[in-house]
Formats: sequence, structure tokens, C-alpha cells
Amino acid sequence: MKHIPKEQMNLYILDQLTDENRKTMENHLYSCEACLDSYLQLMENSLVEDSVSDFFTEKTIARIQHDSKPSSKSSNASSLFSKSIIHYVLAAGLTLILMFSGVFDNMISLTDRAEVSPKQSLTEQLMKKTDQLLEEMKGDHN
Ligand SMILES: [Zn+2]
Repeated sequence: MKHIPKEQMNLYILDQLTDENRKTMENHLYSCEACLDSYLQLMENSLVEDSVSDFFTEKTIARIQHDSKPSSKSSNASSLFSKSIIHYVLAAGLTLILMFSGVFDNMISLTDRAEVSPKQSLTEQLMKKTDQLLEEMKGDHN
């Protein structure tokens, strides 16, 4: 199977792939850990750049203003932003699935010790793990 080139991933993050290319790439991401890793890295970098680089935002908004009516510019800008977040959450979810077997083992031992409903504890533990993971991914590693 052919790996995904970085340019392709960037286009995916910017939501500029054709439907067909996007499907091919998503399928590959589900089955290839190496590409998923690169994708997560790119995603993290692009989000960091977005938040610190006014240049990117100005360029994007300028293009949106140029391309569309002034009244719709803010909704376009916010939908571009929420698309990035959706991509990010999706990526975090994929990571969680890959980690799930290990997390599941943790939860089993925790529910053994604590005398609570296994179902409730399972959900709580999963939510905690998700929070932790998101914090780690969001957090500064400085
Ligand atoms: Zn690959």
C-alpha cells in the first residue's frame, strides 16, 4: 500500500481534497499507524501555527472576504475553525481507539477494586482518559 504524502495530509487538514481522495486517505489512516502518526503531528503543528500566526488567519480571512459577500465572512471563518477542531477531535478519537486495549486493562483492575457499577465506572474512566489525552495533546511540552 502506498503511504500518504505530506502535501496530501495538509490538503486534508485544510479540507481541500476531493471526496474520493479524502475517502482513500481516511481509509489508509485507519489501517496505517505510521501515516496516522504523521497526520497527528501535522495536525498538532498546524493548530499551533494557527493560534500563534496572525499571518495565516489574515490571509485566510482576506481570501474569504475576497471570495464571498461581506455578510457571510464571519460564519465562513468560524466554520473553517470548527472544521480544524473536528479534525483534531477525530484524530484524538483514532488515537484513543489504538490505545483502547491498554486503557481497557486499566479499567478492569480499577473496577475490581472499587465496588461500583462496572458500566458507570467504565464510562467515567474512559472520559477521564479522554480528558487526559486531550490535555496532553493540547499542553505545552516546554
Ligand atoms: Zn501509510
